[in-house]
Amino acid sequence: LTAGTTPRIRRLEADVVNKIAAGEVIERPASVVKELLENSLDALATRVELEVARGGTDLIRVTDDGEGIEPDDLPLAIASHATSKLQEADDLFRVRTMGFRGEALASIASVSRFRLRSRTADHEVGSELKVDGHGHGHGDGLGDPQPVGCPVGTQVEVANLFHNTPVRRKFLKTVSTEFGHVAEQFTRLALAHPRLAAVLKHDGRTVFDLPATDSLIDRLELFYGSATTERLIPVESEVGEVKLWGFVGHPELSKGSRKGQYLFLNGRYIQDRSLQHALGEAYRGLVMVGRHPIAYLFLEMPPEMVDVNVHPTKNEVRFEDSSSLYRQLLSTLRTRFLSLDLSGTMRAPA
Ligand code: ADP
Ligand code: MG
Repeated sequence: LTAGTTPRIRRLEADVVNKIAAGEVIERPASVVKELLENSLDALATRVELEVARGGTDLIRVTDDGEGIEPDDLPLAIASHATSKLQEADDLFRVRTMGFRGEALASIASVSRFRLRSRTADHEVGSELKVDGHGHGHGDGLGDPQPVGCPVGTQVEVANLFHNTPVRRKFLKTVSTEFGHVAEQFTRLALAHPRLAAVLKHDGRTVFDLPATDSLIDRLELFYGSATTERLIPVESEVGEVKLWGFVGHPELSKGSRKGQYLFLNGRYIQDRSLQHALGEAYRGLVMVGRHPIAYLFLEMPPEMVDVNVHPTKNEVRFEDSSSLYRQLLSTLRTRFLSLDLSGTMRAPA
């Protein structure tokens, strides 16, 4: 800038806006994985396959059998603030889908070599759109969708993440660390949705191949083995419109960190300090200080009772009545523990 001239205000180009948005949500390959898997769920997929190469730094490919995208809508799918999931402002207060901000694909496409393929049931062929993530400087800078043969559903391919944002690329960790984060996102989604068949492949090797099931315990067993699932305690309660259910671990299964604690709200993985605290309180005297119980807990409540639009990654939410939830979790577990002899062997859940 030259001294003495007042800088004029200009609107940012769409490409710059998308890169800024990507900075908020797309931190690493695992963030891409989370967004893509959530889109597959929102599209009512029954099966999803996630393939990654080099921890997702080289390639992330998600293929689903969901309802697909109309060819004319393909460019909109990767435009920012374009979504099929919210129609009006009030919808924000009753979100039932995983996504709603309409920003994920635009952000991801702006920082990768990106390809979107999709086909709906009423079309004979699919269509495909490619974006190479370079700042074209003319809006969303896309070619027209091209016809392509593919099954009904959607496939998103994200190659060379951050190739055009070298600083962020530099912050990526080792392949095994990045893959660890990818696998964790996959695990959260797979536990939240046992009815979804889910496959995870890394560098051509199948890491998980999970069949669809109605039973959370069956899915937990594939992840953690029967030695763990045999020592899980089923819990359940209902207070007003709030349903709480799931499994908590025998004190012996406790860990040195909270990594074995999974909390899901209306099918979404969340973290909540208050509920974590309630969980710890329920085990007070049962686990040693510094140890943390494992838990797979599901909260279900009308979407009006919670604000999920607090944080771009939606990992934290705001409850209408947080203290009532605290009391519900604490008393559900305490009551359950009273009926068990936690020092002896416990029976496997039915
Ligand atoms: P959001 O999920 O918040 O709507 P996204 O940027 O993630 O925003 O996706 C934009 C739109 O693209 C979605 O609203 C949806 O209509 C469409 N879309 C994205 N992924 C899929 C998919 N796997 N199957 C069908 N439609 C999809
Ligand atoms: Mg989305």
